[in-house]
Amino acid sequence: MGLICDVQRKELLHIPSLLAEVLEKIYQYSVEEIKDVYDHQYDKGIDAYLAKLVELGVGFYTHNPEAFPAVELSWGSPLEVYAAVIEVESVSNYDVGDVIRQLDDLGCAGLQVRFLEPFSVEDICRMLQPAKDSRLKFIELYIRENGELEEQLFRIVKENRRVTTLVVHSAGEPRIVFPEKNAGSVNIVYTGQPVRRGQPDMARLENFVASTPILAEARHFNIALNRKVCIDAEGFIRNYVSHEAHFGHVSQASIRAAVESPAFREKWRLHNDLIEQCRDCQYRYLCLSNSDVVENGGKYHKKEICDFDPYTNTWHKQTLRDQLRGDAQNPALAGDKRE
Ligand code: SF4
Repeated sequence: MGLICDVQRKELLHIPSLLAEVLEKIYQYSVEEIKDVYDHQYDKGIDAYLAKLVELGVGFYTHNPEAFPAVELSWGSPLEVYAAVIEVESVSNYDVGDVIRQLDDLGCAGLQVRFLEPFSVEDICRMLQPAKDSRLKFIELYIRENGELEEQLFRIVKENRRVTTLVVHSAGEPRIVFPEKNAGSVNIVYTGQPVRRGQPDMARLENFVASTPILAEARHFNIALNRKVCIDAEGFIRNYVSHEAHFGHVSQASIRAAVESPAFREKWRLHNDLIEQCRDCQYRYLCLSNSDVVENGGKYHKKEICDFDPYTNTWHKQTLRDQLRGDAQNPALAGDKRE
């Protein structure tokens, strides 16, 4: 299958492979010349599909193609580290405040903190204290249910305006609690799902978002690992919390030294075009699977098994959203609206 990423409307359009092949030629040849290339075997199909793209508003005919050059897909970032994930299980495993200071020093923009055990609001606020005056732009918090009242939990957001997401996990009945008027816009989301040590983020259709910066980065880097650093529950520095290799304990090794090491950065560069199976997948420039990548006989493979098979265009474990929509695997032109 092929995919059209409409970055303006944030939509994905699933298309047959042959149409994808035709569209790749469109910068070089006119429609009539493309029909020639296929010895006029697919003239009707080409006309029908191109007409459909025009009808859907993702294409138009022109006699002046030079006026529409291909989108520039180079990518660069001044940030040494863009995102970090840290697991907190015990205050004695490592100093969370020191990790936040080190991440700030690297210019880290986004931080996800996963509290794997119940911690009091008092302790959480104290650990996040160094983030208050940092350059972090957003903090996502996953807190294990600690029995404290919602008013207490909202204190975390009030005390630290960088907290943009607050999820209480292992919490029984799922529900959302909205803040009182004039008390900010961060909701508390309760979920019965636990957040465990080394939890991987698997590829999921509902997480794929079409945007030019993501598409550009994915051409050159592994978008799930690039400029990311993680500290696991024990305090070891890793590319991702579920990966086997570590780069020292954060109480003895600096995060800067780890992320500057060639072995750490190698994982940033292993993008999906270099990885078996992923290189044939229509989602390869959108996929946020942060699986480790291993080399075997000169070929790269993802270590975690992906739920999607690009050769049969099938999701093995359907997501709830897929089940509800039922059109994810429709080989016809199916618009995939992103909220
Ligand atoms: S095959 Fe690779 S690129 Fe495709 S969804 Fe799975 S992990 Fe992502």
